[in-house]
Amino acid sequence: MSAIDSLPPLREVIATHQLSAQKSLGQNFLLDLNLTAKIARKAGDLSGCDVLEIGPGPGGLTRGLLAEGARRVLAVEKDPRCMPALEEIAAAYPGQLHVINGDALEVNPLEFLTPPVRVAANLPYNVGTELLVRWLTPKEWPPFWQSLTLMFQKEVAERIVAEPGSKAYGRLALLSQWRADAQIVLHLPPGAFTPPPKVNSAVVHLTALTEPRYPADAATLSRVVAAAFNQRRKMLRSSLKSVSPEIEDHLNAAGIPPTERAEQVGLEAFCALARSLKKA
Ligand code: SAM
Repeated sequence: MSAIDSLPPLREVIATHQLSAQKSLGQNFLLDLNLTAKIARKAGDLSGCDVLEIGPGPGGLTRGLLAEGARRVLAVEKDPRCMPALEEIAAAYPGQLHVINGDALEVNPLEFLTPPVRVAANLPYNVGTELLVRWLTPKEWPPFWQSLTLMFQKEVAERIVAEPGSKAYGRLALLSQWRADAQIVLHLPPGAFTPPPKVNSAVVHLTALTEPRYPADAATLSRVVAAAFNQRRKMLRSSLKSVSPEIEDHLNAAGIPPTERAEQVGLEAFCALARSLKKA
């Protein structure tokens, strides 16, 4: 019998530990272990990798990651009620699961991880977006992670993989595609979760590039695209005025017509603009 078979079904775990879903923590659990194994496989070859899992909850995806051969899983969960359920999994996989009870936006897990590291998470969407932007914008590159496999609301997933000219194109697409290859690898209906959320979901897999596609300073690029898409219907010479009083000169230096709108401008041009601004 494998370790995963020795563990009770997740519905039983939830009943035993009284893990009624809390809306404030975005708790929509995955209880189908075939599905969590499928998501774990989308994270790539886990053998020989440490996996950072954010928001394990009762541990459905955690079990999948361990069963798919992860060397170690470091799981960061905010809800203390989930700790006993996660300890049961840790006991079934001795030395392979380390759990931190804390807020992923505040905990620094790096000291517990040995490269290569992959990240997997089914998180509340607001926390997921905030972490994704942090993981994509460290000053130095390559980052601590090799890949990110993250569940999002379908519309957010579409924003990550969007092309210029589309409605979904914006800051998330630019930051993701600047330093990573990003793909939607799985769609999930509300019924896949307990309780079902009101929205459809999708899993995005991002693989870190060894070098960004074009040189740029991460903080400057992040600031420019945030300002540009904050007022996406305006011409860039006006939406970016707050970034620099000489914005027209910088746009011209980057080869971008100052009358252009953000959604028409590609990644290469935004990076050229960030370089011109940084130089100044
Ligand atoms: N991964 C589990 C699954 O797939 O069934 C749970 C998913 S549920 C959508 C999100 C989980 O993230 C919950 O267990 C919740 O308590 C946890 N969570 C919410 N905010 C968090 C934060 N800031 N840091 C760490 N965990 C968080």
